[in-house]
Amino acid sequence: MSSSSLRLLVTSVLLATVSVFDVVVAGPVANGALQERHHSHEMRSALPGSWFHTEEGEVHKLFRRQNLDAGGYPAVGSPAWTAAYPSGTPDNTKLPQAWVDKLNAAVAAGTIPNIPQTTVTNGGTVYPNGVQRDSPEVCSADDFVCRSPDDVWDAPNGTVAIGFDDGPLQPSGQLYDFLAANNQKATHFYIGINILGNPDLFNRAYATMGDDIAVHTWTHPYMTSLANIDVLAQLGYTMQIIHDSTGGRLPRYWRPPYGDIDNRVRAIAKQVFNMTAIIWNHDTGDWTGASPDKIKGEIQGWLNGPKSPGLIILEHELSASCVQGFMEAYPLFAQNGWTTTSTATLVSAPGSGPWQNAANNTGPVTGAAVGGVVPAIVTTSSSAPATTTNSTAAAAATSTPKKSRADQTSRPVAMTLAALSGFAALLLL
Ligand SMILES: [Zn+2]
Repeated sequence: MSSSSLRLLVTSVLLATVSVFDVVVAGPVANGALQERHHSHEMRSALPGSWFHTEEGEVHKLFRRQNLDAGGYPAVGSPAWTAAYPSGTPDNTKLPQAWVDKLNAAVAAGTIPNIPQTTVTNGGTVYPNGVQRDSPEVCSADDFVCRSPDDVWDAPNGTVAIGFDDGPLQPSGQLYDFLAANNQKATHFYIGINILGNPDLFNRAYATMGDDIAVHTWTHPYMTSLANIDVLAQLGYTMQIIHDSTGGRLPRYWRPPYGDIDNRVRAIAKQVFNMTAIIWNHDTGDWTGASPDKIKGEIQGWLNGPKSPGLIILEHELSASCVQGFMEAYPLFAQNGWTTTSTATLVSAPGSGPWQNAANNTGPVTGAAVGGVVPAIVTTSSSAPATTTNSTAAAAATSTPKKSRADQTSRPVAMTLAALSGFAALLLL
């Protein structure tokens, strides 16, 4: 079955599933976990009274007003917090003026290439005639046709980057249990509307576990298909909700859905928000609904191979099978002599880290003060919607022409299921 057909099948199944509201809803958080969260949050609150940013890119100026001028950050999960963000695709006529001004200034300065938008088809994206996706001017990462030196593709030799896309979602809970039990830090490439729908899971990953948070856009679109202003909105709102929910931290990294990035999208992320894209060099295919055994087998094969470069593996916290596959493979990393580190921490320069405004989650901070406090945490476990359907994952598993990503010539970037998860969240919120 072609990838186009697969997408149509999964789309149909998902829409049918959503229409009958066959949705798994996150259960309440156990008291023990709640206490642990509050305890850890107190530890995190032991930061300076004011939060600081570096002057690099002056990105902090884009995120100051709405929070601090209004008297502080709304508590995560509170009605005021929820009301502060778009419930679906952002309205590009209502963006913060500072974002728009910085984009316009970058365009005027000639730092945003004028590459035509793609058209989304059932199998991916298509550029207008005459525009070559593999040319140096375009340099699309989709299909791995062009590998920009401005993106991160590989981990250091002998290391495995631990990271997960598309959360937070209901299956994230089991994953977080496992990560915590193994004292394993990870990077979560979060979808904005999934943060909005699952604040408890966000708090757990960030405040309780101390994991790294990165941007995976607001609603998981093909970014090259969007106008500049909509690229701006997708990145800006996801940074905003992370900023507001972490006491003012700004993520340094983002991952384009489907790996769909070109020099125009790349430049907007860098010039306006000073974010770097992390792609991947191996794909488990977990997004296809592959069985845990298959995921484990893929990983075992890579671990048996050369240790240069290190592995950045595409994995998801999207379904029970994704999570199970990772958990079953996890012991193999150490058994085969690899070290594991959270992706954003692993690929950061020495002295840097996953955030733009501090060396790491708890270390000393430098630069100009912008004030702010770590936001209070509100538990919303009784109302947090989750968006993954077991039947969707099962349906995808029956039809997966999964290709290995190791040769970087196949087309595994099309994370149909991942996109649909975001779409489902959009429909349900
Ligand atoms: Zn994704």
